[in-house]
Amino acid sequence: MNSLADIASCLSGYDPNALPVAQAQEFIARLVPRVDAVESLAIRSALGRVLARDIVSPINVPASDNSAMDGYALRGAELARDGTTTFQVAGTGLAGQQFDGGVAPGHCVRIMTGAVMPAGLDTVVPQEFVQVTGDAITVPAGVVQTGDNRRLAGEDLARGEPALRAGRVLRPADLGLMASLGQAEVPVWRRLRVAFFSTGDELRSIGEPLPEGCVYDSNRYTLWAMLQRLNVDVLDMGVVRDDPAALATAFRHAAESADAVITSGGVSVGEADHTKRVMAQLGDVLFWRIAMRPGRPLAIGRIASGDRSAILFGLPGNPVAVMVTFYAFVRDALLAMSGATPQPLPMLRAASAQAIRKKPGRTEYQRGIVSRAGDGSWQVAITGSQGSGILRSMSEANGLVVLHHAQGSVAAGELVDVLPFDGLI
Ligand code: AMP
Ligand code: MG
Repeated sequence: MNSLADIASCLSGYDPNALPVAQAQEFIARLVPRVDAVESLAIRSALGRVLARDIVSPINVPASDNSAMDGYALRGAELARDGTTTFQVAGTGLAGQQFDGGVAPGHCVRIMTGAVMPAGLDTVVPQEFVQVTGDAITVPAGVVQTGDNRRLAGEDLARGEPALRAGRVLRPADLGLMASLGQAEVPVWRRLRVAFFSTGDELRSIGEPLPEGCVYDSNRYTLWAMLQRLNVDVLDMGVVRDDPAALATAFRHAAESADAVITSGGVSVGEADHTKRVMAQLGDVLFWRIAMRPGRPLAIGRIASGDRSAILFGLPGNPVAVMVTFYAFVRDALLAMSGATPQPLPMLRAASAQAIRKKPGRTEYQRGIVSRAGDGSWQVAITGSQGSGILRSMSEANGLVVLHHAQGSVAAGELVDVLPFDGLI
């Protein structure tokens, strides 16, 4: 395991008090370990799980040359260049019931989609192109070329070729692909365990009375939901009071039971609470100020208890900052810990409906509503107030406008990057 100081020394110009988003991401990628246990699951239980080994095809798919159309299989070389060619129909091949006989010159075989190509025949003429007269068909010149409408053995997958690579998050087509190889069980990495809790004496859980000056804890619900999308096991540890003993107990329990722990609140500069002190006491933790908005403060490191440890993500308390920092830093880190090969999130390029003021030197995430303009192009309007406590505007938005580190102000109509929430949030 790399120490935090070792990782920091690898990054040029590392400044924990003004860390660019990209550098924080690089740091975290170097910090997080991957789970090490593999389990074997039936295909249908593996949806959304991370493949732990390459899946190598034990067979050719398809296993033999077969027809892609309903029609007539013949030798392409026998087709005349001009006029028409007549063939005698020697028999029929169905999917799952192949034509076994030999086919003499001048003959063809009636064939259905998926049926094995009779020996020596290489071309299928779709039935709509031929004229049938008794036991003979007539094919006009030029409707097919040699090799048309024939699927070759191994065209989908050749034997010995990797069909799926380790690190892939399995999707519906992958399940079907593995079934097409006759594979009943799939090796996947074990699920990551992620504990989370909220800190702050002003927080109340749903069902409790709400005294003056208190707020209901919403972060645990957003975090829970964002974690559900990542297919990890979650451990909701509730609200932890701003009390050193309670915090220490919570962190120790998290370190013993989870691979990662996510907290919200208590990491701001000048915060009068105990969260940061307890984090520092129980592990190797850095307190960053990231050049971004929202979500500037972030604690990152490892929390230990005995011989167990967990990666710590200490997120800010503001509800919008929690979501933004989760997508900027935590999501990819948890996927990497789960064994997944990182894939950049797809971004849209959309025309900004308004001018946006922005200083170069920090990354800004603004809540936006993306829509299709009349001409089919994408446009994005910023939702009203961008205050980092305003969760309603996050709920109204359907994407985040990402204004990159070096980018300056945006003029109305200028194209900006947008991270759509669909499938993500
Ligand atoms: P902090 O980062 O602890 O200074 O918190 C910043 C702001 O976020 C404060 O207004 C907190 O009341 C609010 N906040 C912190 N944690 C939560 C939470 N779990 N749910 C809702 N609001 C929170
Ligand atoms: Mg607080």
